[in-house]
Amino acid sequence: MIPRLTQVDAIEKIYLDFLDELQQNGFKGEIETSYASRFSVSTDNSVYQSLPQAVVLPKDIADLQLVTKVAGKAEFAAVKFSPRGGGTGTNGQSLTQGIVVDMSRHMNQILEFNAEENWVRVQSGVVKDQLNAFLKPHGFFFAPDLSTSNRATIGGMINTDASGQGSLVYGKTSDHVLALKNILLGGDVLETAKMPIAEAEALAKQDSSIGKIYQQVLSSCRDKRQQILEKFPRLNRFLTGYDLEHVFNDDLTEFDLGRVITGSEGSLAFVAEAKLNVTPIAPFKTLINVKYDSFESALRNAPFLVQANATSVETIDSKVLNLAREDIIWESVKHLITDVPGKTMEGINIVEFNAVEAADSEAKITALTDKLDALVANKQAGIIGYQVTADLASIQTIYEMRKKAVGLLGNTKGTKKPLAFAEDTAVPPENLADFIMEFRDLLDGYGLNYGMFGHVDAGVLHVRPALDMCDPEQEVTLRKISDQVVALTAKYGGLMWGEHGKGYRSEYGPEFFGDELFLELRKIKAAFDPLNRVNPGKICTPVDSSEKLVSVDDTKRGFYDRQIPVKVKESVETAMNCNGNGLCFNWDANSPMCPSYKVTRDRRHSPKGRAGLMREWLRQLSNQGIDFNNEEKALLKGEDDSSWFARWQNTKNKNAGEYDYSHEVMEAMDECLACKACSSQCPIKVDVPGFRARFLQLYYSRYSRPLKDYLVGSIENSAPLMAKAPRLFNFFLNTKLVQGAIKSTLGYVDTPTLSYPTLKQQVAKVGELNVLDWDINRIRNLTEAQRLKVVAIVQDPFTSFYDADVVADWVKLISKLGYTPILLPFVPNGKPQHVKGFLKRFANTAKTAAEFLNQLADLNITMVGTDPSLVLCYRDEYTKALGEDRGEFEVLLPHEWLKDVAFPEAKQYKIEFKLFGHCSEKTAVPASQKDWQNIFAKVGAKLTPVAVGCCGMAGTYGHEASHLENSQQIYQMSWGDKVSKLPQEVVLATGYSCRSQVKREDGFKPKHPVQALLKLLSS
Ligand SMILES: Cc1cc2nc3c(=O)[nH]c(=O)nc-3n(C[C@H](O)[C@H](O)[C@H](O)COP(=O)(O)OP(=O)(O)OC[C@H]3O[C@@H](n4cnc5c(N)ncnc54)[C@H](O)[C@@H]3O)c2cc1C
Ligand code: SF4
Ligand code: SF4
Repeated sequence: MIPRLTQVDAIEKIYLDFLDELQQNGFKGEIETSYASRFSVSTDNSVYQSLPQAVVLPKDIADLQLVTKVAGKAEFAAVKFSPRGGGTGTNGQSLTQGIVVDMSRHMNQILEFNAEENWVRVQSGVVKDQLNAFLKPHGFFFAPDLSTSNRATIGGMINTDASGQGSLVYGKTSDHVLALKNILLGGDVLETAKMPIAEAEALAKQDSSIGKIYQQVLSSCRDKRQQILEKFPRLNRFLTGYDLEHVFNDDLTEFDLGRVITGSEGSLAFVAEAKLNVTPIAPFKTLINVKYDSFESALRNAPFLVQANATSVETIDSKVLNLAREDIIWESVKHLITDVPGKTMEGINIVEFNAVEAADSEAKITALTDKLDALVANKQAGIIGYQVTADLASIQTIYEMRKKAVGLLGNTKGTKKPLAFAEDTAVPPENLADFIMEFRDLLDGYGLNYGMFGHVDAGVLHVRPALDMCDPEQEVTLRKISDQVVALTAKYGGLMWGEHGKGYRSEYGPEFFGDELFLELRKIKAAFDPLNRVNPGKICTPVDSSEKLVSVDDTKRGFYDRQIPVKVKESVETAMNCNGNGLCFNWDANSPMCPSYKVTRDRRHSPKGRAGLMREWLRQLSNQGIDFNNEEKALLKGEDDSSWFARWQNTKNKNAGEYDYSHEVMEAMDECLACKACSSQCPIKVDVPGFRARFLQLYYSRYSRPLKDYLVGSIENSAPLMAKAPRLFNFFLNTKLVQGAIKSTLGYVDTPTLSYPTLKQQVAKVGELNVLDWDINRIRNLTEAQRLKVVAIVQDPFTSFYDADVVADWVKLISKLGYTPILLPFVPNGKPQHVKGFLKRFANTAKTAAEFLNQLADLNITMVGTDPSLVLCYRDEYTKALGEDRGEFEVLLPHEWLKDVAFPEAKQYKIEFKLFGHCSEKTAVPASQKDWQNIFAKVGAKLTPVAVGCCGMAGTYGHEASHLENSQQIYQMSWGDKVSKLPQEVVLATGYSCRSQVKREDGFKPKHPVQALLKLLSS
């Protein structure tokens, strides 16, 4: 039995007092002090880990002011803060040991839009893609781009002066900030915008905190103007820290204090709101993907492409391309970057042309493609081919692939993982190829593995060398390389932090700014934050402060991870490998990742949150001498050393409020829908349901399980029995009394009723068919030719017993297509046991089912299932649980079989179906939507996939009373509106859970696509 885990760092008294005072003063947002909440924001995408004292989440600007006002009280002068947005920093930018002020959960409203004057006013927690989705129908977009656009916030972008693809034309974030509303420690509101110098000078005369700031910035930037112009490299990128140069316009007539805040990494003030300039969308885009025989060829050829007056030029090396090939994303881009026969593609340049009128870029494109044709024909410049596309959706998918590249690099096998620490160097573009060659020599000298891509037009290179931070010696290597890269970028006239900000690299600031200008930064910091309390240690410290800057050598995540035994880390590698890139915080309600985060907006309830909490749990267990693997093995062997009495006692203590960190992990795991979107959508394939089941198994070796778990875990045994008398059970289940009793005793709601007539009754009536009366011997006696015509339906408990019409229609469709359907006897699949962490029982169930299915596979019988999540369980969970014992059997999803089957001649149907795909199916089998479209096209009918996220039911999740509210909200986020606007007969859903959820929420049960096909073929 696992022990109670209590070794969590306590919150310092001064912080508890501060939070208490905040609460007393009517703070409306959340104040989170649980260890799990604190831990969930202790990392970003960097190598660092820093546990904050608490997380506060202001509801609005008044709340934010309250935080800063209370902080202004003398007794709280030692309390420190760090503002946080999406937490996607690559160098610990938002990490702190003080209080995290998370702007993303509530302060994410778009406040005002003015199409005539091209601006929008937003709260700082708005996500960049959220803003662009709002602007799109108006014909505008917020132009600075970044790879993390689906989760990074405007506040984060402003504070790191984010930019990315297209920056030569579209600029950086700071180029688009018209005005800011900032809150200073103490509660003062500092509004900034461009103003005549005289106005700034008048403000500087005020005897106030704001007056002092104007005074200092004016004098620092004016007195040192010459040094500033001489010192800063003439790059497209700005060296974050305080932008001393651009507070003035070129002729020194205008002043914008906001320019020192953009790029200040949260070290000056809290940005509450921003007024941003927006850009009209150029409706015509053309992308030319130029393919090369080497990465060096791609780099050396980049200036030639830039000269073609392209909007942007991006480069990707073969390593990144090959990783993309292995990812779900490749499905959508493979036709746009096809291989060149007989050649190996070692790099590509992605050249984009944008235009308001198509004709505007035609001449440029033709000129470039003519030149490319000549280079290919003459075998010059290492160009082996190119492809052009003007299809906007295709262009978007290419960029999605490019944006996912960093994450994909993180998925490298082994203990050395690609790390961010020198990942965004910038040098003048004309120096880039030579710089990269020398950079490569440097990394090769250490024998490191790495992939490269970047914005070659702006001279920005992204590279993450693979190192293992659990090895202290490699920490030293990280420091050595950092120092060398600083020197190398300086040699080529560039910067180490060309795009992502400094964070823990702040210690190199003086080297780049020079002592004289760095002193000015410190004076500015002192004017804003004299006691070094806002994101302390980042960028610089106040001028008279003796406090230190954060350092590259500061405590890293590896320090904690190395406390977990290697074998344990290997066995729970997907939790260990999460690199915090935050892709699972995807803002878009129509994306499957991650429903529990979307509905709660609580970082604990995300794949990253769960992976982090699991890692910490393993660490704490290890520190108590417990080996997770050994505990697990013992349980799987049935060697459980805990008694029901001990579990009862522990549960009693738990209910009485006894602390155990395991409860915090449990809370996060309990909210997971086990939808598995993370296991395919996360670039690292962090498989939460996999480690969640293992956690549950161990947790319940110490605590008693709730009754509902037993109900779910045994559903595959009880459903077939109940299905023998469906009317009797339905009669009881339909009574309010029984529903109420189930809810109060088991915590289960809206229990579904059993199908009547039963599946057996329905298929018994299917014409001449004899689909039931088959046993293995009868199949064996078929000739090989006969067997090729047999299609065996593998039953699942949900569709067969609760949605029998679907299976019956499936049988009929198979028959109609000229095959012999066989309904295999129901054999439990085990998925519900897995979800609830009954892993020993699951292993037995899986073994029995695999043996049965392998017999049929040996006879070369085609097997098809119906429900995606159960069919996919045979592929994933079975492989993990049984290893080689799983055998080779294959159960196809309906579309996987139908796509290769001949259909009768197509007719022309007027009806247009809408497909609401099951999220596990869409994410694990990305071609499924397209396949269904093609299948319907074969019949002559149109089917369009609808972009939706999770339906919120996810097996039994939505039936559990404790999840009901979230389940319903998840449905409303992307399904509700879309379903209710459609005629019921066109709505098709592949998942049993999805159909049940629509029935519960919208009052009708959609058909499965096989049912629609049957109807079409029968009409
Ligand atoms: C895989 C990956 C790819 C990336 N690609 C790019 C890229 O293409 N281009 C690019 O520019 N960056 C990139 N980044 C870095 C990162 O996404 C950006 O720096 C982004 O702007 C951070 O936004 P955020 O909301 O996550 O901010 P956070 O990480 O939460 O914070 C970043 C900094 O801003 C401060 N901050 C946040 N909100 C506020 C506020 N309201 N008021 C005051 N200070 C605040 C924080 O204190 C911190 O110093 C990438 C990161 C990853 C993980
Ligand atoms: S779980 Fe995956 S997507 Fe989320 S932060 Fe970790 S690695 Fe990124
Ligand atoms: S399984 Fe689904 S709900 Fe659970 S963490 Fe993964 S994406 Fe989120």
